[in-house]
Amino acid sequence: MNVQERLEQSAFSSDGATLLIDGEWRRARSGETLDSLNPATLEIVGEVAAGNAEDVDDAVRAARVAFDERRWTKLPPPLRAKILHAIADRIEAAVDELAVNEVRENGMPLPMARGTILGGAQAFRYFAGWIGKIHGQTGEVSHGEQFFGYTTKEPIGVAALIVPWNGPFMMACHKVAPALAAGCTVVLKPAEDTSLNTLNLARITLEAGVPPGVLNVVTGLGSVVGAALVEHPDVDKVSFTGSTPVGRQIVRAAAGNFKRVTLELGGKSPVIVLDDADLAMTVPGVLNGIMANAGQACVAGSRLYAQRGIYDKLIQAVSDAAAKLIVGNGLHEGTQMGPVISQKQFDRIMGYVESGVSEGAELVTGGKRHGDAGFFIEPTILSRAPADATVVREEIFGPVLSAMPFDDLEWAIQQANNSRYGLAGGVYTSSLEKAHTVARAVKAGNFWINCHSVQDFWLPFGGYKESGWGRERGEMGLEAFLETKSVVARLY
Ligand code: NAD
Repeated sequence: MNVQERLEQSAFSSDGATLLIDGEWRRARSGETLDSLNPATLEIVGEVAAGNAEDVDDAVRAARVAFDERRWTKLPPPLRAKILHAIADRIEAAVDELAVNEVRENGMPLPMARGTILGGAQAFRYFAGWIGKIHGQTGEVSHGEQFFGYTTKEPIGVAALIVPWNGPFMMACHKVAPALAAGCTVVLKPAEDTSLNTLNLARITLEAGVPPGVLNVVTGLGSVVGAALVEHPDVDKVSFTGSTPVGRQIVRAAAGNFKRVTLELGGKSPVIVLDDADLAMTVPGVLNGIMANAGQACVAGSRLYAQRGIYDKLIQAVSDAAAKLIVGNGLHEGTQMGPVISQKQFDRIMGYVESGVSEGAELVTGGKRHGDAGFFIEPTILSRAPADATVVREEIFGPVLSAMPFDDLEWAIQQANNSRYGLAGGVYTSSLEKAHTVARAVKAGNFWINCHSVQDFWLPFGGYKESGWGRERGEMGLEAFLETKSVVARLY
């Protein structure tokens, strides 16, 4: 099948009926829709319902009824696990179509899209493995042997799952899989720029046997649908991935009924390169660490601190490699970097590049629009940026690396930690001692030694400081959808 045929087969023919409520697809109550744009070609790829607070209320009610009727949790654990595996099977079987859809909405290169779709399937397999293994504890009670105590783990209830546009299908899977494994019911809100492929995920969950009402979807604007969800008194849990400012709004809104909240927010992750680093490993590590997904990765290694002895060589090599990256439509063979998501992000990123130069950084490569259509930005390296420059402090979320030389490792560590973010970090060195010293000293939830952004489902993922609350993935990711109940029984 060629790309055009795949596209036709994969298109979600919605007619704006993109709200999934109690197993039925319907339009927004207002009838309003939003267009979804291909960021590489600026073509409209589809339209989605612009839901509002009433639609959110319908979806939350459906999720509440499904939860209270135990439509999902009354199914035996082996059957629930089988359904999660069936979702993974269906995602894997449709990976080509789903990947093309992902590229059309998000712009990432096709091989990367395939990887993220398969990563979504893996989330269902990993969390399927937990079903039937969610245990409490038992124990003696100090009041005497006629008492007996135990704990149970119970699903929190109705979970609102809010995802961003930078890895839309995969990130929806990363939230839906643990929520279902824990026994919650769900209202899923995709990002307004990238909703269509998430609808394919919802369709797949229904086909795989998730009962109606257990997974509901409301598309629409974050300021309308997202805001209504996080304020809704019948939502028990919010799991949000997105920007730090919106995370702050969510914390305030969730206070109404003390919703449980997990936040995966922004980052400004430092990468420290020592003189003894292996350049062959470091150059691609640093380059992909910032340029993957056109820099639109929360864990992007966007601040580079390189020791004086290696600095010039490293900047030269990374800049040469950056200038050679093939930028283009993610559906074209050989593309290594796609466009950024929208005009808004394009303008924001270009504004940061200008500010970097005007605040004293040296533009080594990039810094301009690539081509004349689509939201393409050249891979950009800013060298010798002042340590307190805006480009060093703020999250850019684009293909822009800000680099600084250093002499003293203590200074580099102090600068690495001189950030309100704490999502990720990395070090390149051939010294075991220095690698683990830096890993221990950097305040971040994820850290890489001689690599970047290598992740696994059993490894918890999340941030220190203003990069978030709680962790996704692993046992901690499951716990985030569970309450603990202590029970004491008097036996005689
Ligand atoms: P965003 O915060 O603007 O939007 C994220 C989601 O929140 C979207 O679905 C949006 O519709 C919704 N939203 C917007 N306003 C809302 C509101 N008032 N109430 C509730 N929901 C609302 O973020 P973005 O620009 O789409 O994504 C980029 C950001 O996400 C970056 O800061 C990036 O670092 C972060 N991110 C973090 C991780 C992580 O795991 N830590 C992963 C990917 C992206």
